[in-house]
Amino acid sequence: MNTQRPLDLVIFGGTGDLAMRKLLPALYHLHCDGLLAAATRIVGVARDDLDDAGYRELVCVQAQRFLGKDFRRSDWNTFVARLLYARVDALDGTSFSGLAEQLSARPDGQRVFYLSTAPSLFAAISRHLEAAGLIAADSRVVLEKPLGHDLASSRAINDEVGHYFGEGQIYRIDHYLGKEPVQNLLALRFGNALFEPLWRREWVRDVQITVAEQVGVEARGDFYDRVGAMRDMVQNHLLQLLCIVAMEPPASINPDAVRDEKLKILRALRPFGPGDVASRSVRGQYRAGASGGQPVPGYLEEAGIAPDSRTETFVALKAEINTWRWAGVPFFLRTGKRMQDKVAEIVINFRSVPHSIFGIPASPQHANRMVIRMQPEETVDLHLLAKQPGDVMHLQPVQLNLDFAEAFRSRRLEAYERLLMDVMRGNLTLFVRRDEQEAAWRWVEPILAGWDASGERPKPYTAGTWGPAASSALLSRDGLSWYEEI
Ligand code: NAP
Repeated sequence: MNTQRPLDLVIFGGTGDLAMRKLLPALYHLHCDGLLAAATRIVGVARDDLDDAGYRELVCVQAQRFLGKDFRRSDWNTFVARLLYARVDALDGTSFSGLAEQLSARPDGQRVFYLSTAPSLFAAISRHLEAAGLIAADSRVVLEKPLGHDLASSRAINDEVGHYFGEGQIYRIDHYLGKEPVQNLLALRFGNALFEPLWRREWVRDVQITVAEQVGVEARGDFYDRVGAMRDMVQNHLLQLLCIVAMEPPASINPDAVRDEKLKILRALRPFGPGDVASRSVRGQYRAGASGGQPVPGYLEEAGIAPDSRTETFVALKAEINTWRWAGVPFFLRTGKRMQDKVAEIVINFRSVPHSIFGIPASPQHANRMVIRMQPEETVDLHLLAKQPGDVMHLQPVQLNLDFAEAFRSRRLEAYERLLMDVMRGNLTLFVRRDEQEAAWRWVEPILAGWDASGERPKPYTAGTWGPAASSALLSRDGLSWYEEI
């Protein structure tokens, strides 16, 4: 790291699922790669009655589970020396004294507070940190999603946290922005002259953004049933990906230059009027089916789900961006649980040639496209037509594959590793600004309201498929198909 100043990373929710599954393994990897300064300490915070040794033991058990073969005892022994524990009840200000004592031992240290708890605790944590004198002008706070349930609740959380931390100190995580292919999309778009002239309505026919999960709600049914796919995935991840695809070239990679451009896209999204909800959106809910060859229950049979729940586990939307660059180009967004495959990808479909001298019909199979995959593998493919070797002019689709694993042998950072490094370095570029988040809520709310007002149930789909039939119909109305149907 470029600074030797001591840093204390305090993880509220230090015993929770996210900390065990993502944050601590990410920090372990950074430690192994020599990216954590020697004086960096990690303080886990929760209500459990643990001491440092007990916390280290607990983390060790979970780390072996989540790190698998990457768990190496010798590295682990040096990593755990960084781990401390503070027993704090976020709702009880007096319980912050132990944490205050630990942190005050290094008065010159940089403090980062990672709030990996329910957002309902964010205000109390911020208030008590301030009362305990733990927030300095250069302290940082990381907020996990979901930030609110709607615009009003998101504003309330931002107001409360904003009372104690300036906007420049607040890091709202959207871990999709930490993924290598997403940053590579920025690099490809703005580091090369090749794509920019094509990146517009004259050459792009449609854009498809899919984040599909094979899993159901797992053990988080109670949480998911209150949230649903729109709030869990679309309002944040999918709209952020749309912004990265659609934004104008920023003047620099400076955080506000990038975030200003993303905000312009969110503000240019065509709003959903009452009549649009039926024609431009699909919401679904999975029924019993199969996943990985095994029978799986339907959503309503899962633990923690209300038997008459109308929570959507699938969303498909047709978004439109009212700008000169994108007018008339549909951006299809889709996400769901219990889908056929686990895949996260962005597909840019280019228009067909205006006239084929080879007599090839203008069909989607023959169109150029760029496929940016974040899952299961991280690749960028360019689909082109090329001549098949031989004595006749026979054209075949081929794929130019930008295989980053092959091109760059260095270890690639997982999204949380990259974002944690950015927090520690103080780089806000890949974090969501308050006005972006609120603009996203403003666009999403009328869709949620329209679904409620319709009185209709989400459309059923069989677990292990690509969602309800209405999802295909959403594209076929424009004469288009989802990428996997082409
Ligand atoms: P979790 O497993 O339920 O963990 C919650 C953590 O908060 C536990 O460490 C819990 O420990 C602590 N906690 C609860 N009440 C507290 C209080 N009053 N004072 C101090 N600590 C308290 O939740 P999670 O899945 O890790 O999720 C954490 C946050 O990240 C949530 O906002 C979630 O939506 C978000 N998130 C999670 C994931 C994920 O994959 N898990 C992904 C994206 C975002 P004690 O009960 O012992 O105090």
